[in-house]
Parts: sequence; structure tokens; C-alpha cells
Amino acid sequence: MKIAILSRNRKLYSTNSLVEACKRRGHEVRVIDYLRCHMDITSHRPTIYLGDEELKGFDAIIPRVGATHTFFGCAVVRQFEMMGVYPANESVAISRSRDKLRSLQLLARKGVGLPVTGFAHDPRATKHLVSLVGGAPLVIKLLEGTQGVGVVLAETSKAAESVIEAFRGLNANILAQEFIKEAGGADIRCFVVGERVVASIKRQAKEGEFRSNLHRGGSATVVKITPEERMTAVRAAKILGLNVAGVDLLRSNHGPVVMEVNSSPGLEGIETATNKDVAGLIVSFLEKNAKPGKTRTKGAG
Ligand code: ADP
Repeated sequence: MKIAILSRNRKLYSTNSLVEACKRRGHEVRVIDYLRCHMDITSHRPTIYLGDEELKGFDAIIPRVGATHTFFGCAVVRQFEMMGVYPANESVAISRSRDKLRSLQLLARKGVGLPVTGFAHDPRATKHLVSLVGGAPLVIKLLEGTQGVGVVLAETSKAAESVIEAFRGLNANILAQEFIKEAGGADIRCFVVGERVVASIKRQAKEGEFRSNLHRGGSATVVKITPEERMTAVRAAKILGLNVAGVDLLRSNHGPVVMEVNSSPGLEGIETATNKDVAGLIVSFLEKNAKPGKTRTKGAG
């Protein structure tokens, strides 16, 4: 196959790992910086250009669209879809997953376990929002945050109200969420490829920190997940329409709850901790599924 990896930087561990997996499995592979692409969206023959070159002849793409470039990145993925090129994740599913609120609403609708979460605009709702999620301590999250930035643990209701007011004053959208204390600063990252959890790790926050993001000094170890956790992760990816997803779960005393579903999950932490060829499994998924024109949008909403 001829595979394009849509990534801004070929030196990133994840991009490089995917390139190597494609080569090992005998495919032709190219890393394309999607921000450098431009396209003719109106032509009856949709086209994408990289400089003067028309990009054509690809069988599949692996989008690795960064959170800061979701809008343009998804437009490029969509254009490839219009051209009949099979994407590892579809544009609609990527943009759906990038909206934390929308994702949680879609998961809630299907009965997936979630931390109790509230959302409001009007400052007069702040007090009720805090009590809605069980009062202090509670977690407040910036909707636009990633890698744990903008995730705050408020120890008291007063602190929560001040943080919410401060964020609102900056015109930022925030979620208030029940604090899953019993998770003990750990979360479970389940890596899903095509309706299977192919690898999972436990990420433990460093001492004195409740956020387990590896970027924030968390450490990763292999973990054996329960059948319920496995099922929850697979369902969450499926509901959002993602073939490749990193589903983050917290172990709460009322079972696994989904915190987030990531459409461009990093490979470094999971491959290093588990010693599994996760990139190879993504490419193997493409080998089985990439057919020209098979890009119908899955799921709804
Ligand atoms: P980001 O998308 O910025 O990584 P997350 O929502 O994943 O933000 O939160 C970052 C980390 O904070 C999580 O990995 C988890 O360890 C911790 N965390 C987030 N929400 C909760 C919660 N409701 N209860 C307990 N810990 C949480």
C-alpha cells in the first residue's frame, strides 16, 4: 500500500514509529505536513497539493492531527476522504473527539460510565454547579486544555467558585467534575485499534500531583485491565467512531469511568512500557480495512 502519515514532525516518536512499521510491513510511506497542504475543494475531482505537487495514489492515511490544528487538519483529512482514501480515523470522529463536552454527552447518551460532570455559562449557576458534582473537592477543566494544562483540583467550594469565576472572566469554557479520589492519582490508558484494546498502561502521577499525564512527570507501567474496563474502552472508541483511540479511564468505586478519548494517542509511553508494536497493529488494521471509497462517516452527532 501507499500510506501517508499526516504529521507536522517526522522526528516525533509516534510518527517515526508508524513510518518504521509501514516500512517493516512492506508499504510505501510518506510523512506529510498537513499544514503545508492546500486543496481545491470545489472541483468535481477533489485534489490536494503540497507546494506544486499534486498528492495522489494513496491507499490510506494515518492522521496525527495536533490539538492546536484540529480545524485545518480535519479539513485535509476530509479532503483525502473525498478522494476515496481510507483514513485510520475519519475527520468527523477526530473533530467529535476534540470537543470534550460533546464527547462526554455522546458517551453519556449510551450509558458509558463517566465522572459526574457539569457545564454552565451563567456565573449565577456556579454554586449549583459545584453542588451538582458533589461539592468539594472537585475538578475544574478548561475545555480547550490538553496534557493536564487547565485541569485544577479545588479543595474547597470557595476555591472552586473562585477558579470558575476566574476562568469565566477570561471567557474560557470550563467543566466541573466529580473528583475521583480513589483513583489515587492514577489513570488507565487503553489503546484501542479496531474494536480491540491492544495495549494498556497505568499512569501514576508523581508525588503530590493528582494529574497522571506523562508530560507532567507521571510514570507508566503495564497494567492488566478487567473485562469491564476493556469493554468500556472499546465502546467509548466505537461511540465516537474512532478506529484508533487512546481511552483514558479512572478506577472509581462505581466501576471504570471514562475521562477522555484521544484520537491521536501517543505511542512512546505505551510502546516503551508494554514492548508491543502498537504502530504495527495500526498498520495491520489498515491492511485489513483500507478499500478505496470506504470512508463513510461512522456514528452520529
Ligand atoms: P488533559 O486532556 O489535559 O490531559 P484530563 O482530563 O485527561 O486532561 O486530566 C489530566 C489528569 O488529571 C488525568 O490524567 C487524571 O490523572 C487527572 N484527572 C482528571 N480528571 C479527574 C477526575 N475527575 N478525578 C480524578 N482525577 C482526574
